[in-house]
Amino acid sequence: MDDMKFRRAMGKFATGVTVIATENQEGVHGMTANAFMSVSLDPKLVVISIKENAKILEKIRESQKYSVNILAADQEELSMIFAGQLKEHSEVVFGYLDNQPVIPGALAQVVCEVSHEHIEGDHSLFIGKVTDINLEDEAEPLVFYSGYRTLTEKQPAPL
Ligand code: FAD
Ligand code: NAD
Repeated sequence: MDDMKFRRAMGKFATGVTVIATENQEGVHGMTANAFMSVSLDPKLVVISIKENAKILEKIRESQKYSVNILAADQEELSMIFAGQLKEHSEVVFGYLDNQPVIPGALAQVVCEVSHEHIEGDHSLFIGKVTDINLEDEAEPLVFYSGYRTLTEKQPAPL
């Protein structure tokens, strides 16, 4: 099967957008990711999927910790920055939760320590044991489906 057909099919799955962040002695590194899923409630586990050539991969292997930051509707620019799609940008200032870098204003900041890494094909799945969470309940999510969208756009006009 050709790659485009697979990507077109996977792109039919509407998702939110996260920025994964981790820190080592070189500093904080972030990466945009939509391959994120809740795994278990007891214990509280999540999973992220990182491609084998991503710079963040070795950094997470080293730190054994990461945060998942679920972006709000007004954080599209941050998604582009951490996907390497916006080279000219102002400095990104991180907050901290449980000693891990997090994105201020994200809908949820989920801090994890690596429980297991599974290498599958050209990606690594990191199962994360959740150690802390901060929530911003008032904002709308950023949605990814054939580009960036919000939940409130394209609402039909009231009759
Ligand atoms: P780089 O490409 O070097 O870093 C990413 C960008 O972030 C660079 O431009 C860098 O300057 C910037 N950056 C990093 N840290 C900082 C900092 N501290 N301050 C300011 N800027 C910083 N890939 C996956 O593997 N899994 C996924 O689930 C996934 N989902 C994606 C979803 C979407 C919607 C998009 C657009 C992309 C997705 N990608 C995913 C692709 C991934 O985001 C890019 O390939 C990314 O560029 C890989 O990052 P990197 O770690 O290799 O480092
Ligand atoms: P796209 O057509 O490249 O991707 C559509 C969908 O296919 C993605 O949402 C994802 O579900 C899947 N996909 C794409 N590349 C993949 C990969 N290397 N491994 C596994 N699944 C992959 O268009 P887009 O959604 O606009 O993506 C923009 C960029 O972000 C592309 O360079 C894409 O490769 C990258 N991306 C990577 C992943 C990933 O590695 N898991 C996920 C999403 C997007």
